[in-house]
Amino acid sequence: MNTRPLLDYAAALGIVLDNSTRLPAETCAPADAVGRVLAEPVDSAVALPPFDNSAMDGFALGGGDAPVAAGATLEVSGEQAAGDENTLGSGQAWAIMTGARLPDGFDRVIPVEQVHTLATREDGEPARIRLEAAVRPGQNVRLAGSDVAVGERVLAAGTRVQPRHLMLLAALGVASVPVIRRPRVAVLCTGRELVEDASTPLQPGQIRNSNGPFLGAQLTRSGAEVVHAETVDDDEPAFEAALQRALAAGVDAVLTTGAVSMGRYDFVPSVLDRIGAHTLFHKVAIRPGKPLLFARLADGPLLFGLPGNPISGAVGLRFFVEPALRAMTGMGTEIALRLPLAEPLRKKAALRYHLKARVSINARGEQVVRVLDGQESYRIRPLAEANAWVVVEAGIETLAAGDRVAVFGMGHDEAVIAEENTP
Ligand code: AMP
Ligand code: MG
Repeated sequence: MNTRPLLDYAAALGIVLDNSTRLPAETCAPADAVGRVLAEPVDSAVALPPFDNSAMDGFALGGGDAPVAAGATLEVSGEQAAGDENTLGSGQAWAIMTGARLPDGFDRVIPVEQVHTLATREDGEPARIRLEAAVRPGQNVRLAGSDVAVGERVLAAGTRVQPRHLMLLAALGVASVPVIRRPRVAVLCTGRELVEDASTPLQPGQIRNSNGPFLGAQLTRSGAEVVHAETVDDDEPAFEAALQRALAAGVDAVLTTGAVSMGRYDFVPSVLDRIGAHTLFHKVAIRPGKPLLFARLADGPLLFGLPGNPISGAVGLRFFVEPALRAMTGMGTEIALRLPLAEPLRKKAALRYHLKARVSINARGEQVVRVLDGQESYRIRPLAEANAWVVVEAGIETLAAGDRVAVFGMGHDEAVIAEENTP
């Protein structure tokens, strides 16, 4: 019997990260950058707001360093609406609208609710007003540059662009941003038992391919571009030919599922040896997903040999492939949330566990995490119920209710969110 200790997770991940080099940058319009990662920081060339403007509908006035007292009466001699271009004010006060440029000579705004109209013009607009409250210099004015100063760093390299960043980029008038090229990935599923087409009836012994659709969708959500996907029989030449097609598509990484364990048809390791791939590890001290294989193909791309069991493959994707995608795109490492366990837990000390889990909110409004029933690697229904992964390191055997555990989102960029309360 082979008693050599299994490679631990941290060492295995270290090997993956050492081989995951940052991809080149390209430029794109900000709207096309959503979901992609900034290759360089964004420094603002302009100020926001671009000019001093009114925070309220009201009246713009001046008055030097002192407040203008309640009870003051002022003539209204002009009007400035949002978009109006007057730069120079005149007289004692102007009517002004929210977002309108504050005419020079005025430095404060009194809201319309705090004035009393003493006289109106022919068109019914105020001509003379009395202030019902004092107004300090700068009151109700949004100063130029108070949100973003010229030259200020507004987004860091490694930021995955979200709609909220788009709001800022649009306001700044940024026309293009440098982003890392999306990692190009191929997915090859192996197994003669697999049926692709949902309308094809299953013959005895057949099952439907559930790994392929899951991996494709999760990879896309994780920021990769799936450029090639196919499913092959348990046949070495067919697998090798599929691998060549994947490589011809120009990929940074190939994911395979199945055929990496100890079974008679588990041919991935031997095909890799034959084509001159450099296998960097095979088997890691984790559950599920122990048979995971990681290799570098002769001409550069990485190969992740994920086990066929659906949850084993999902763990391989989440805890090996996604960190590699982050490294390729220049994102930082993830930090787990730590939440109290709802129930006690027992596990094997020798392995790091990755558990289908559900985060919910208790009566005090705090997040708690429950490890779901059905942790076997063939059981996919609990994954559909899960909204998080609980990770418990090797070395730990028992945990009590209330002990804090590491909690990761379903995907590397998905926050852990509880959708309903604990019953
Ligand atoms: P293997 O790693 O090839 O021995 O497969 C392990 C288990 O996962 C077997 O029960 C397979 O039928 C199942 N399996 C393999 N590939 C897939 C797939 N693409 N979709 C669903 N189940 C799969
Ligand atoms: Mg198989």
